[in-house]
Amino acid sequence: MSDQVLIETVDIVLPLEKSEDDDSRRIAAAKKLGIPVKRIGGIKLRKHSIDARQRAVKVQLRLEVSLDRALPPDETPRWFAPALSPSAKPVIIVGCGPAGLFAALRCLENGLKPILLERGKDASARRFDLAPILREGRVIEESNYCFGEGGAGTFSDGKLYTRATKRGPVAKVYEVLVAHGAPEVILTDAHPHIGSNLLPNVVKAIRASIIAAGGEVRFQTKVVDFLIPEIISVASRRQREMKC
Ligand SMILES: Cc1cc2nc3c(=O)[nH]c(=O)nc-3n(C[C@H](O)[C@H](O)[C@H](O)COP(=O)(O)OP(=O)(O)OC[C@H]3O[C@@H](n4cnc5c(N)ncnc54)[C@H](O)[C@@H]3O)c2cc1C
Repeated sequence: MSDQVLIETVDIVLPLEKSEDDDSRRIAAAKKLGIPVKRIGGIKLRKHSIDARQRAVKVQLRLEVSLDRALPPDETPRWFAPALSPSAKPVIIVGCGPAGLFAALRCLENGLKPILLERGKDASARRFDLAPILREGRVIEESNYCFGEGGAGTFSDGKLYTRATKRGPVAKVYEVLVAHGAPEVILTDAHPHIGSNLLPNVVKAIRASIIAAGGEVRFQTKVVDFLIPEIISVASRRQREMKC
């Protein structure tokens, strides 16, 4: 007999009150697959969405079902990067928002050393700088709702879904977030969201990963200009020419 577990993916719909019940899920899955319930070895939730358009609220579930045997356990998502070589090329990244943080992680995955430059403060210090906005309507120029670790949405509710049709590696992004402390439910929820209480901690955990893997994060470091070697050499050549 082969060691391979036979796994089927099945979409079912259950009334809200039965949607969390394991037996109801098994019965509905078996019916959909046209097999006896006892053949179902294990079930795992893969997608969960609520349809509240009717009076009777329904829940749509995508399940992974193993036949005759138990399902292999899921691995908890982890993020790791190969050890950085001492001669790793540095990459300067401006801004410690989601784009900058994920760019830094990608650099490390590819053996490059990211150096993140962020004009604002780290997420903990930044929280204190929001009070003057709410109390006095005074905005601290370099540390506010938009500037600082985590970028513009750090102190928002952290919705993770989009209506945009352009799709990137969404599942991979969710896994990285879970690896840094986001709740696992974001991997299955149709409208995942992290929550303003957790989001800053997830951001701080990503920073810790970047530093542990050999990257650098510099706060209160505003980029004001670029010194590009080519431009410098052209400028100095012109200067030399003018002197002659
Ligand atoms: C109140 C609010 C709520 C939001 N809620 C959500 C939500 O629930 N879900 C969602 O998906 N999106 C939400 N967004 C949008 C989301 O925050 C942005 O799409 C996202 O932050 C863009 O990421 P980014 O890295 O491109 O830019 P940003 O997040 O803007 O990050 C840019 C970073 O660069 C830094 N920076 C800028 N100039 C310099 C410089 N010269 N030198 C050094 N550093 C610099 C800034 O300080 C900032 O930290 C929200 C936005 C706001 C404002």
